[in-house]
Amino acid sequence: MTGTTLDDYTDRYARRVRGMTASEIRALFAVASRPEVVSLAGGAPYIAALPLDAVGEMLGRLGSEHGVSTLQYGIGQGTLELRERICEVMALSGIDGRCGASPEDVVVTVGGQQALDLVARLFLDPGDVVLAEGPTYVGALGVFQAAQAQVCHVPMDADGLIPEALEVAIAEQARAGRRAKFLYTIPTYQNPAGVTLTEERRERVLDICERAGLLVVEDDPYGQLGFDGEAPSPLRARRRDGVFYLSTFSKTFAPGLRVGWILAPHAVRDKLVIASEAQILCPSAFAQAAVTTYLSTMPWREQLKTYREVYRERRDALLDALTDLMPAGTTWTRPEGGLFVWANLPEGLDAKAMMPRAIAARVAYVPGTGFYADGSGSGNMRLNFSFPPPERIREGVRRLSSVMEQEMAM
Ligand code: PMP
Repeated sequence: MTGTTLDDYTDRYARRVRGMTASEIRALFAVASRPEVVSLAGGAPYIAALPLDAVGEMLGRLGSEHGVSTLQYGIGQGTLELRERICEVMALSGIDGRCGASPEDVVVTVGGQQALDLVARLFLDPGDVVLAEGPTYVGALGVFQAAQAQVCHVPMDADGLIPEALEVAIAEQARAGRRAKFLYTIPTYQNPAGVTLTEERRERVLDICERAGLLVVEDDPYGQLGFDGEAPSPLRARRRDGVFYLSTFSKTFAPGLRVGWILAPHAVRDKLVIASEAQILCPSAFAQAAVTTYLSTMPWREQLKTYREVYRERRDALLDALTDLMPAGTTWTRPEGGLFVWANLPEGLDAKAMMPRAIAARVAYVPGTGFYADGSGSGNMRLNFSFPPPERIREGVRRLSSVMEQEMAM
């Protein structure tokens, strides 16, 4: 798909395909998954923390308990039973009937990724502008790029998206005679930066978007995975109009089932379902039954606690190792939840250029450039702590720091 001269189809691709390139993360997976490599590159949840025998039995019983419906087509919006359970999950973080959340306005999707793609299909024409945090989720960049939209990054600090910078970005668009279609934001335990938008900033960001007539696409896969107390409530719990809420069971249950959802403003719900039917007809009946049964019959709230405990221990292992081992001049974020730490390398180091040396030293990370649409991020890297056990994390950081020291000595 990269349009090299070896590709006989280059002249035939649709315009939206021409800019498509393999994501740096996907390209890394092959090497990073070799057993001798400590991979701090992935984003996989630690599903070994699930009660795998009990989940296996539950999956085995699905056919007999739900009958043939698990093997049949279903409705495009997703089953009512699952949408009701999803509303119970959202209510945990304050998105409930009081702010107008109802199963009627939930659309079940194939993971959070399809949810993003649907929003892009509904709102983005080629050339449209999307405002997004810098850095942002690599899979969202892929979706916006495929929609031929332009991403304009808004900087963050330790408190998340900077409201003043959002105002500047909106003003710059206005000066160019444009208005961005929406703000795409991951306010809680952000991927890749690991930071969380503060309570006070949430209100300001919403006010700014409302005043500027900007829709808000709130992507929240990690909100339930806080280790140091509760996160501020989602943007959607604070405003019902103009906010699309996207989430997924990939990080709180299992990504292999590919079940996510959108809670959409009521007026838009039908269009989302029509767009989703055009893409996939309906979400998998089997996967929906699996998630519904998991939420109805298994101790999923306890499981969330288990995930949080495992990740807290691993986050601590990573932060301690960074403190003990990283060369002077390196800084990093201190996530209170989620799966990732974002590191700033000492002046002069280039995370992408260093990657082959890191792989040779048997450690992998994702260079920061993958998380920007504009080539920024060469002095950054994303480090994952959800998957490797604590002692592997420490070993990975040891290898990484020695590669960095060698680079600095060159
Ligand atoms: N949004 C964000 C911010 C993510 O980090 C991810 C997954 N890494 C997704 C969406 C996609 O989730 P899913 O695996 O459910 O498609």
